[in-house]
Amino acid sequence: MSIVPENIVSAFADLNMLAVLFTSIVFGVAIVVLRAGSGDFKAPAEALYQGIAGLEAATLRIMSWVLEVLPFGILAIVAHTISTQGVDALLSLAAMVGALYLGLAGQLLFYMLLLAAFGVGLRRFFASARTPMVTAFATQSSSGTLPVTMAAADRLGLSRSIHGVALPLGATINLDGAALRIAVSAVFAANVVGVSLGWGQLAEIVVVGTLISIGTAGVPGAGIVMIATVFYQVGLPIETVVLSSIDALVDMGATEINVTGDLVGVALIDRIRFGRKDDAQPPACALPTSDCG
Ligand code: ASP
Repeated sequence: MSIVPENIVSAFADLNMLAVLFTSIVFGVAIVVLRAGSGDFKAPAEALYQGIAGLEAATLRIMSWVLEVLPFGILAIVAHTISTQGVDALLSLAAMVGALYLGLAGQLLFYMLLLAAFGVGLRRFFASARTPMVTAFATQSSSGTLPVTMAAADRLGLSRSIHGVALPLGATINLDGAALRIAVSAVFAANVVGVSLGWGQLAEIVVVGTLISIGTAGVPGAGIVMIATVFYQVGLPIETVVLSSIDALVDMGATEINVTGDLVGVALIDRIRFGRKDDAQPPACALPTSDCG
């Protein structure tokens, strides 16, 4: 129901990506139809099209400015997390964070195997993917990283007709890292309160966690709200959502994997649809960064 927004402004204001995507598709179809026609509205539709192209260029330019100061932002986030939570508090939760990052590393390995199996060059892929990966890590937002992810897809020479739709959709519903963090948090919480989970409950956590990750927004901290829902579902005390104290650390890695998964998916679809591109001439950079010269 939330795909069709009650009004266009609220879709954008609430960062409801499915509604934004729906609005964009309807709007885009209207512009295509008007530009293809010969009526009175052809010229204004053409101007609108050019205006939107200009808006996109300006957005990408602003993102390139943001990337310039990104290292300072990462330093500030890590310093803030450690100074507000204290090293002891972090140590007590280190096992959970370690387990999560092990899981995320396993997921990354799985992506690499998939890319290799489909003949996508890993060096070439990660040379472009590293910018959105670092951005996702620092911003903890798949949606916020979207322009950077799209620029990386452009650098990889992936078809715009595929990634223009698949990446916004992926930032909304394909949150592999969120699914992992929801499951790991539930098991951690069960250990804290001394509840021993059977195989049935573990399977339930995986299934419910994965389904709930689809509805998790690509914004910082969205997963922690969903974790509470899973706790309720499997009967864990809701107070154990004390995990939120270290949520930034967990969210950083999860978001990085969320974004990488989207780019891997698009690279595979593009590979299946258009074949090998490793020898193709890289396209002009949409987002000038040190990666693309
Ligand atoms: N912050 C994550 C993202 O934007 C979602 C989450 O909280 O797990 O992808």
